[in-house]
Amino acid sequence: MRQAEVVIIGAGPAGLAAAKPLLDVGAEVTLIDRSAMLGGQLTKQTHMFFGSEKQHASKRGIDILKLMVEAIETYPNLTVLTETTVVGLYADKVVSCVKDDHYFKIQAQYILIAAGASEKSLPFENNDIPGVYAAGAVQTLMNVYGVKPGDRVIMVGSGNIGLIVSYQLMQAGVQVPLLLEAADTISGYLVHASKIRRLGVDIRMNTSIKRALGETSVEAAEIWQLDENWQGIEGTETIIPCDTICLSVGLAPLTELLQQAGAEVKYVRELGGHVPKINQHYETSLDAVYACGDVAGIEEASSAMISGHIAGIEIALKAGYTVANANDILPRLRHDLRNLREGPHGEKIRIGLKKLGVA
Ligand SMILES: Cc1cc2nc3c(=O)[nH]c(=O)nc-3n(C[C@H](O)[C@H](O)[C@H](O)COP(=O)(O)OP(=O)(O)OC[C@H]3O[C@@H](n4cnc5c(N)ncnc54)[C@H](O)[C@@H]3O)c2cc1C
Repeated sequence: MRQAEVVIIGAGPAGLAAAKPLLDVGAEVTLIDRSAMLGGQLTKQTHMFFGSEKQHASKRGIDILKLMVEAIETYPNLTVLTETTVVGLYADKVVSCVKDDHYFKIQAQYILIAAGASEKSLPFENNDIPGVYAAGAVQTLMNVYGVKPGDRVIMVGSGNIGLIVSYQLMQAGVQVPLLLEAADTISGYLVHASKIRRLGVDIRMNTSIKRALGETSVEAAEIWQLDENWQGIEGTETIIPCDTICLSVGLAPLTELLQQAGAEVKYVRELGGHVPKINQHYETSLDAVYACGDVAGIEEASSAMISGHIAGIEIALKAGYTVANANDILPRLRHDLRNLREGPHGEKIRIGLKKLGVA
């Protein structure tokens, strides 16, 4: 079995940020990602980031990832395993992986889970026919592979992802006549909503999709109005021609590996679903197994970077390394994280963390 001092599962902004302080102190780090490219969701984010200047706001996600990868790639104590999927995690800190049909195990001393999240779907008739996509898949098709998903898209969900992907679709020459939102308010930033409205997108509140129409692929969407309990109102149905239905209805933390290893998790709706119970050092209920970024609660890349940075330092300290100025850096990072979670957009996170007991 291979041996590793620290295994980081997931090379998105959280995992990349965690690797740096560990590499700086000389820890042997094995960074694993199932994708061919490092960067997680940043690989498909061509837009200028919102968030905090300290975490590269107003740069494009794809440029942020270059900076983060450049900051670690030359360290001799770094091993990177791409196109490698972690399929098992055990309480004795054994990680099992698959790469090119080859199965192998790694015995780690410390493990950090930074696996991010998966996209949620919606139950409606015909939601499995070709042409029904999740928003992240649409972003990957367009921004990573240069493929348009269709010519006329109905977007479902008015969070930042739905708003930004609508804009990117229009930049690619795709029509987005309609965006549906079940709630009575737009959940993303109004600046993004105003931008797509100016470009002609009809954002309809209290409305959702009833079914997709089409024999072999999407030919239209049947939509309907919702009552205050989000139940469809019979008689309000309208049929809108389209070839793509894009669902942007939230993300769920990928905690399966943690659950497999027996880590304590709790369902917290505000954090996206099941999340690990972590202490202030980002350690889960399993000794020397840590979690940070979206897997510990859906937030943003800025918070993923800060939580990764903190987790990396905490692991280094637990492993007995001396981290220069840790007593100054850690309170500053925690302060930055609190700042990001302030205001109305951070309210959900604050409630979620309180429920989890880590506020
Ligand atoms: C359309 C869109 C726009 C966004 N815009 C912004 C923005 O402007 N500003 C902002 O701050 N945030 C933004 N975000 C949010 C941000 O991208 C995420 O919060 C952030 O990427 C989370 O970082 P992470 O490292 O926790 O997870 P991810 O970026 O999801 O990375 C997780 C990594 O883990 C890997 N992985 C998962 N499971 C395994 C496994 N079993 N084995 C091996 N590897 C695995 C995945 O391949 C992935 O590379 C946006 C998100 C989207 C979808």
